[in-house]
Amino acid sequence: MSRGIIDTEETLDKPSQKTLQMIWKEGADWNAVNLLKRPNAEETVKPTFSVIKGVQPFEHNYYTSEAFYKHDTERGVLKNVYGQRVMRVSEDFMIAMLGALEDEVGQAGATEIMYKCGYRWGLEDMRSFCGRAQAEFQVQLEKMRVGFLLEEWWWPLTITGWGTWRYDFRQKEKGLLYVELYESAVAKSIGDIGSAVCYFYAGMFAAVFSVLAKRNLASVEMQCYSMGEDYCKFVISDYEKVDAAGFWRSQGATSKDIMKKLSVM
Ligand SMILES: [Zn+2]
Repeated sequence: MSRGIIDTEETLDKPSQKTLQMIWKEGADWNAVNLLKRPNAEETVKPTFSVIKGVQPFEHNYYTSEAFYKHDTERGVLKNVYGQRVMRVSEDFMIAMLGALEDEVGQAGATEIMYKCGYRWGLEDMRSFCGRAQAEFQVQLEKMRVGFLLEEWWWPLTITGWGTWRYDFRQKEKGLLYVELYESAVAKSIGDIGSAVCYFYAGMFAAVFSVLAKRNLASVEMQCYSMGEDYCKFVISDYEKVDAAGFWRSQGATSKDIMKKLSVM
């Protein structure tokens, strides 16, 4: 089968199996950990985790603003510790960007675009994360426990202002993953407007868990800080369940109601 045929099956928020598998096959990306490298570090990936006493070959504890951001004041360029170019923006920027998007394409169009942007962001972020994590910890991806992978993936998002999270896999046998998000950058910028606004995050969670599960998943926000709740909460699951959850939310169901209905679906 030609590559063209496989690619036509892909949409912005539904990659082919091949794309999801490819992300797992990324090798170690030594360039991404160049600034974390200590003189004793060898660029080798080992088949199992090995305990290294004393100074670590690669620095792991760099989640402070001073350590994470690298300023090139001469060129006016800001990069993160992995060498990726970044931009620091204000809450006003966030509001203006989302407002402009809504003016252009309407509310329904804007939420769809945000979800798809979040999805592509999540895929790309996983791609770079998988390469980087294997280099930083010098071990194959398959040897890392999922909890370890997820925390390592999320830490850069915390330090860059996207909030903190807690995941809940207790209903994973039923195909239901839940994520609680605290201090959503989107919702905190927009404030309480009586509706869910974190479509970027929903798309991103869908992509990240699709990569980890190696199959297509979707996500919807069940409650949001912008709906007057204390924190945001998402479900990640098959399309059918996520569609149902989105419908129930639109009918005014609380996240507790939605979770109850999903668990017997
Ligand atoms: Zn939210």
